[in-house]
Parts: sequence; structure tokens; C-alpha cells
Amino acid sequence: MVFHECKQCFTKFKNKGQFDEHIICCEFMRNRAVEINNKAAFINDPVPSNRMLYESIKNCMSRIQHLETENEFLKTFARRERQKINMIDYLKMRYPVLTMDFTAMVAALKDIQQKHLEAVFGGNIVDGVCALVADLIDANKDHFPICAFSHKSHTLYVYDRGLWSEMPLSDINNLFDLLSNRFFPAYTKWEQRRNEFIVETEEVKMQKMDFMRKINGHYMNEEVKYQKFRSFLFNKLKQNVKSIVEYEFV
Ligand SMILES: [Zn+2]
Repeated sequence: MVFHECKQCFTKFKNKGQFDEHIICCEFMRNRAVEINNKAAFINDPVPSNRMLYESIKNCMSRIQHLETENEFLKTFARRERQKINMIDYLKMRYPVLTMDFTAMVAALKDIQQKHLEAVFGGNIVDGVCALVADLIDANKDHFPICAFSHKSHTLYVYDRGLWSEMPLSDINNLFDLLSNRFFPAYTKWEQRRNEFIVETEEVKMQKMDFMRKINGHYMNEEVKYQKFRSFLFNKLKQNVKSIVEYEFV
């Protein structure tokens, strides 16, 4: 038979659980006795009745049991959160209802201003479309119907008609086509208002032609346009999952 012996008081135990309980208590009592001896303090702390001791112990044990249950729950929850965060579930929980869904967002992206046209002239059609979308994102932080996460590169999630889902590549490309097509009528209107374009010199013709080509995206390969637009959305919208996990635990 194996015995567990307390090194302090040499009491022997058959049961490991009881032995563990004993050493915590034995060590505490020894330390407390040393404290009392050293300070030679007058102990003005009356010992309660057995009844009250029993009541205190019941109270403590019930509190410990409650803490253990709660701790077990938190540990399970933490483990699950660390292991896998289903992004659709997360989005449903974090943004259950958005005031602007994808359809409303597309409708809201109609106001092509001079600065967006200038972004095209100074760069290319992708710069213009991105500038247009960036303005709406900046005005709707935390309510934008497209989301991305840094650990899921190239994946975008979209909220439409009350549901979150992964956004298919074709939908992202279609969104780009739809938005870039809105630039041409906006450009035409803008061009008509320019006084310096009234007299059609050779130079003006060339200038108009160059602007129009840029607006129509003729200088760029289709696939490159799509790719740049997707990277823009991802980089602009990506959230850090680590900060999300910490946020959820606050
Ligand atoms: Zn002992």
C-alpha cells in the first residue's frame, strides 16, 4: 500500500485527494502559527461557534462550486473561439442587421463627383471607382455591407437582404463593371460644362480622347482592373481577427 506522507507533520494518507487537501491546510496553519509567534500579537479575533464555522464552510463550498462551473464554461468558450471562428457566424452575431445592404450600397454609389473623375484622369478607371467606394466606406464605418478579415485573404463577405454570405468572385467583378460604367455619363456631363472644351482645337480633341479612353478603361487589361479593385476592397475593409477575439472577451 502506497502512503502519502506530509513532510510537515508526518501524517500519512492513503487517499491522494485527501493528502492534497491536507498539505494546503497544514502549510497554511504552520505559516499562520509562525506569524502569530513572531509578532506576539494579541489575537483579538474571537473564534466562532461550530455552527457558524459550518455555515461559513457551506457558503465557501457553494461559491467554489459556482466558480468552477463558470470557469469550465469560460474555458470551453475560449477554446472554441481560439480554434475556429466561423466568419459568417461572427458577422451574423456582430452585425445582425445593417441599415445599408448591398443593394442599397449599389444605389448609393451613383454620385460621381469631379474628384472621382480627376482620380481617373490622374491615374486610371480603377482609381476612380476605388475613390468613389472609399468615400462611402469612410462615411459608413461599421455599417458597410462588405467585410473582410486579414487571415482570410482574397475573401469578401457581403450582406444583402438580411443575410451574410461569402461574395463570389463574379459578383465582385460585376460590381466593378457596374460602377465603372457609371463614369461615362458622369464624364459626358462634366465635359459639357467645361468652357475650355467649347472650341474644338486639335489639342482639345486629343485631350477629350485621352480622358474618354481613361474613363472607359481602355488603357487597362480587364483582369488587372478586377484584381486591383478586389485588392482595394480587401485592404480597405479587412479587420484583424485577433483584435476581434480580444474585443469579444472584454
Ligand atoms: Zn501535515
